[in-house]
Amino acid sequence: MGTVHLSPDYIKALENLIPDTLVVSSEKMRGLWLLLALVAVVKAERVFIGDQVIRVNVQSEGQIQLLQALESQEEWEVDFWLEPVSTELPVDIRVPRSSLSFVTEYLSVHNIPYSVVINNLQELLDEEKAEMEVNQMKERSTRSINFGAYHRLETIYSWMDTLVAQHPKLVTKQEIGRSYENRPMYVLKFSTGGANRPAIWIDTGIHSREWVSQATGVWTANKIATDYGSDASLTSLLNTMDIYMLILANPDGYAYTHSNDRMWRKTRSKNPGSVCRGVDPNRNWDAGFGGPGASKNPCSDSYHGPSAHSEIEVKNVVNLIKSHGNFKSFISVHAYSQLLMYPYGYSCRNVPHQPELDSVGRAAVQKLTSLYGTRYKVGSICNIIYQASGGSIDWSYNVGIKYSYAFELRDTGRYGFILPANQIIPTASETWLALKHLMEYVRDHPY
Ligand SMILES: [Zn+2]
Repeated sequence: MGTVHLSPDYIKALENLIPDTLVVSSEKMRGLWLLLALVAVVKAERVFIGDQVIRVNVQSEGQIQLLQALESQEEWEVDFWLEPVSTELPVDIRVPRSSLSFVTEYLSVHNIPYSVVINNLQELLDEEKAEMEVNQMKERSTRSINFGAYHRLETIYSWMDTLVAQHPKLVTKQEIGRSYENRPMYVLKFSTGGANRPAIWIDTGIHSREWVSQATGVWTANKIATDYGSDASLTSLLNTMDIYMLILANPDGYAYTHSNDRMWRKTRSKNPGSVCRGVDPNRNWDAGFGGPGASKNPCSDSYHGPSAHSEIEVKNVVNLIKSHGNFKSFISVHAYSQLLMYPYGYSCRNVPHQPELDSVGRAAVQKLTSLYGTRYKVGSICNIIYQASGGSIDWSYNVGIKYSYAFELRDTGRYGFILPANQIIPTASETWLALKHLMEYVRDHPY
């Protein structure tokens, strides 16, 4: 998308890239090669022309197994947006155009009905990008951030400085370490003083393609900063507790979703012995590490990594939480499916605090639903999605942070990861009611 302006110098440089032996005297041939070289340069970004997202409403255990077999069919390069794990939940699959006929044939041979949810993924991505560009121009001219838009990493990082400057008595920015590609990882700390007060942790965007998560993080941080002093309940909370927000929990992945591949989920670390990069940072925590619901295959989107906390992005959070030692709640925000979950993912047995976590979660969701009627399910990860090992909230719970929760924000699959920007503020606003309920409960139930 967008016009690519190339200077004469740049074109000259491109011409020089073409090997002499290939530059035949014919101007026509030369032009053709130049065109090919240009296409290669301009197309650094992955395209999804003709890719479809299809939905299967699974009806039997047998169908789940057939879909899992489809997933392991590497040459078709299908990308499961929602995994085939239970007959309770739909399965969403992005199918590249090149394997569309094979996949649909496979489904019909096995009598698995499906529907097409997104007909041409690239169209949605083009719209998303065009909207971002228009917004960027508006933001430049008004010199203010639009919370109802998606932003690049650099914009989010510079907005953080603005927020700190606007609320110097409440907000500070701390670098908790660097990412694999050496990007700083910033935590926003909301604190009115005290030493090592009991604290609430909120992270967004650990899976980079779940853009509404990071966008909700930005809106929420601004909400906390602006409502302090006017919202009595939030004010009393911040008078006794601190809130920490890590908005870009996977900065390399997030930058990569903007520059190269909108569908990127993992970190960007190199995997020795494999051409595939990245580890699923939500399978990398030291909680049932390497168990069911995580992959040993570095090319898989749920690859757990070589060892627990191998990912520096995960390790940085672990170090902060451990050295702080006084977190009472750990909330991790994902998308999509509209779920509020508590531990465990790696095991289907109930945690000791299951009844309390469940009832607090249900009350939080009731608040969320009260705003626009958005429906959420509540339960343990294992019971409402699937068994998944190495997840962050299992780790936080096991290190003693009782109120550990994970959100899956909007939607339920109409747009999936490509949620239109006009849903950011409604999503963040309704989620805020649930977050506030959880935080108030934590404030009122010290342990
Ligand atoms: Zn996620």
